[in-house]
Amino acid sequence: MKIMAVNAGSSSIKFQLLDMPSEKVIASGVMERIGLPEGIFTIKYDGKKEETHPVLKDHAVGVELLLKSLIEKGILKDLKEINGVGHRIVQGGEYFKDSTLVDEEVVKKISDLADLAPLHNPAHIIGIRAFQKALPNVPEVVVFDTVFHQTMAEEAYMYATPYEWYTKYGIRKYGAHGTSHQYVSHRCAEIMGKDVKDTKIIVCHLGNGASICAVEGGKCKDTSMGLTPLEGIPMGTRSGNIDPTVVSFIATHENKTASEVVNELNKKSGYLGMSGRSNDARDVTAGMEDGDHRCKLTFDVQAKRIVDYIASYYVYMGGCDAICFTAGMGENLIHLRKNILNRLGVLGVKLDEEANNVRAEEREITTKDSKIRAFIIPTNEEVMIARDVVRVAHLG
Ligand code: ADP
Repeated sequence: MKIMAVNAGSSSIKFQLLDMPSEKVIASGVMERIGLPEGIFTIKYDGKKEETHPVLKDHAVGVELLLKSLIEKGILKDLKEINGVGHRIVQGGEYFKDSTLVDEEVVKKISDLADLAPLHNPAHIIGIRAFQKALPNVPEVVVFDTVFHQTMAEEAYMYATPYEWYTKYGIRKYGAHGTSHQYVSHRCAEIMGKDVKDTKIIVCHLGNGASICAVEGGKCKDTSMGLTPLEGIPMGTRSGNIDPTVVSFIATHENKTASEVVNELNKKSGYLGMSGRSNDARDVTAGMEDGDHRCKLTFDVQAKRIVDYIASYYVYMGGCDAICFTAGMGENLIHLRKNILNRLGVLGVKLDEEANNVRAEEREITTKDSKIRAFIIPTNEEVMIARDVVRVAHLG
């Protein structure tokens, strides 16, 4: 059976075609610059990587081209071989408690929730429509980033703001990267040879967007992202937590609206704003190695904030069996993992420097006598999406 896992953004569609239940990747890639004069279509299959520059007028054109290419390249003989499509959806609010089959009511609900994810949810719907058009008889399933965090207790997800903001507008913490946190924590339990129900795990998903999650017994107990992905630790271009008064201060002094300032907190802060170089951790690492103080400070501020969360979740869960690192930076940034784990000596964490000296490999990176184990676990959101398509559409 073959399942297409899709992550549609406003100008891009990432895809992965998986064979299930073997979970082997048959093809993967991305269509970028949709709607611009020249698009980019990258596809990997059979150990090959090909890039072309077609005009991708809209998402529907992109999906048609993708499906046509799968046939032309001999990856599929017939589109009927695709048994299901799974879409990653950023915001499911309080309404969606599990992945679900797509119907018109589900699409309407995702659209209603766009207020909470204005950049993402509308783009996801465009992606859903494009696949509905191209593969009308294939079941589509939506898999929400927020579902995994729906197990947080009220005390963890409520903000101490006027209660009516919650009842009227749904202002609360929803979290993000749920599919990744779930995959990594459950995989970690597997590696440790424990039933996930008996584990307390802290997952550090450190990509361009980044969040920390406390997972107790396989369920989310707390997470660092909030109403939107701006909350939590500093990220590629996002500030993470700040005093909200900064917004009105900068708005007044630079003659900007609150939305303009929040836009700068989302797009011009974090690594980019702090280092003044780039949002890409590789560039900031190069700067640090050249002795640039601001680049070093960028990593120190982030590591300190990550450790603040780890310490708080350690207390909230009443202990911790393992800390996991995942996503672009978590998997690849040797110096950042070291910076974080060396700050946790008081909890009995002992880094194994040699073991830590790897990139993107599933591996334990603490010594045998470390009181909390730490692991690098490359995330796999696509596999989680494909598994949910099989489960929810009863394809198994
Ligand atoms: P997102 O999915 O949120 O866009 P990713 O998980 O792809 O983000 O992570 C992107 C970050 O990971 C970037 O800051 C990038 O510098 C970093 N990264 C990716 N690969 C490497 C690598 N080989 N070495 C160091 N950093 C890396």
